[in-house]
Amino acid sequence: MLSTMQDVPLLISRILRHGATVHASSQVITWTDGAEPRRRSFAEIGSRTAQLAHALRDELGVREGDRVGTLMWNHAEHVETYFAAPSMGAVLHTLNLRLPPQQLAWVVNHAEDRVVLVDGSLLPLLVPLLPHLRSVEHVVVSGPGDRSGLEGVRPRVHDYEELIAGRPTAYDWPELDERRAAAMCYTSGTTGDPKGVVFSHRSVYLHSMQVNMAQSMGLTDADTSLVVVPQFHVNAWGLPHAALMTGFNLLMPDRFLQPGPLAEMIESVRPTHAAAVPTIWQGLLAELTARPRDVSTLGQVTIGGSACPPALMEAFDALGMRVCHAWGMTETSPLGTIARAPGHAVGTDEEFGYRVTQGRFPASVEARLRGPDGDTLPWDGRSAGELEVRGPWIAGAYYPGPDGEPLRPAEKFSEDGWLKTGDVGTITQEGYLALTDRAKDVIKSGGEWISSVELENALMGHPEVAEAAVVAVPDEKWGERPLATVVLKEGATADFEALRAFLAGKVARWQLPERWSVVQTVPKTSVGKFDKKVIRKQYADGDLDVTQL
Ligand code: ADP
Repeated sequence: MLSTMQDVPLLISRILRHGATVHASSQVITWTDGAEPRRRSFAEIGSRTAQLAHALRDELGVREGDRVGTLMWNHAEHVETYFAAPSMGAVLHTLNLRLPPQQLAWVVNHAEDRVVLVDGSLLPLLVPLLPHLRSVEHVVVSGPGDRSGLEGVRPRVHDYEELIAGRPTAYDWPELDERRAAAMCYTSGTTGDPKGVVFSHRSVYLHSMQVNMAQSMGLTDADTSLVVVPQFHVNAWGLPHAALMTGFNLLMPDRFLQPGPLAEMIESVRPTHAAAVPTIWQGLLAELTARPRDVSTLGQVTIGGSACPPALMEAFDALGMRVCHAWGMTETSPLGTIARAPGHAVGTDEEFGYRVTQGRFPASVEARLRGPDGDTLPWDGRSAGELEVRGPWIAGAYYPGPDGEPLRPAEKFSEDGWLKTGDVGTITQEGYLALTDRAKDVIKSGGEWISSVELENALMGHPEVAEAAVVAVPDEKWGERPLATVVLKEGATADFEALRAFLAGKVARWQLPERWSVVQTVPKTSVGKFDKKVIRKQYADGDLDVTQL
């Protein structure tokens, strides 16, 4: 028997229409290097989004299914493109501007982007690539920047504002199939070529509702969210879509992502929420310690993308900013888990123990742990295995390119279609995930596993350590042993013996690293995570000054 309910597709255009009317006065606030940030109401965003869609269709010939690339920082025009492209039936393709140029070109060609919208300030990155971009017919430039490099190039060049000016401010958005492609994002290709994940209208819609749930980020129209996580990093964790749904203001930092400007925008615009990877928060913490500011409005901080060191959480708690730890990946849209303590633990000594885990699975994300032999492990908080997930916003395949079949490599998808995350951890009876490591970063020492994350978290709890990254290096006797690389705070005097002694008691004796190196900075990936591949290579090439204790 079928239901008697209306079959209304879950479309991004519905989120846009709602945001632009019901939350008409909410704002996208874009930070500038001028005196005042740029403020644009959701009503204006709605009108301009319609104008952009008209321009894309009528002037640039964009049709349903065409890919529209964006090479942009976080700002109002990027939000407009977020809604224009999918709502008209095209596919938004956010490009990671920190990818090496060759990989960026590979991704544009693989997705066959017809149009690229680019910030004027990012033209020095795009222009040298243009001769290699086979599918790009139009380049749309937004904001200031030297455009002289665009003279005589093959794609037609447009100015964003001139392109949309004078066009109708309403658009008859098509009733699309909710399962159609809405947006795509490539993983950063830590191993091999990047892999394309294609989100549907339905998956984005459901994911946005999850972001907005009280046990998730739970923002309302009384909030302002500082979206430090780039719009090219898994749709800025769903915040722009979620904002138009519930009306919270978006504070967009544009290209001003250094700790100084971030502290300044918190003090002057007074956001209530912010989201970013741990490395950004480490930098901000150092800035706030050196130059205290009034950051008292910032009640909630979402940290994800890599494990949040407990010491960082404590430091932010002490400043009155409550850290909420979350786990996810491009393939999970990205929200997979979020660490809010259960009601019975809130306000008790147990609460912190829940908050430092990766968090609890929401109803729509099913999870299981697989042991080394493929057996399913119990949720007992002890049995560690590879995490597999499935649900309506979890990828079931990768984008194959225009003519192929969806890609389901056996190392990423189980035979029954679950996503293999490559993350190793435990799950408690209450559904809290605690990750010990990425499968490829675990240190396999004499038949036992050492968690690199646990060592890093413990080291980053030392008052003189700014950052610490631990990787596996080959060892004749044990197979692999940990190498600890540390960035010391200014004026620090701690030596390796002292750091090792600090770790003793926090981890088992046999896990204590004997190889140590002080580095100026830990290398980071294009989305700001520790790049352990680079550290392993530095070690293999003899580029690190290593002390053996
Ligand atoms: P990439 O794989 O290129 O880094 P993603 O942004 O998709 O791109 O990264 C997803 C991975 O990041 C996860 O599989 C996991 O290893 C790691 N990760 C994300 N959030 C957390 C977290 N809170 N704790 C530990 N690891 C995390």
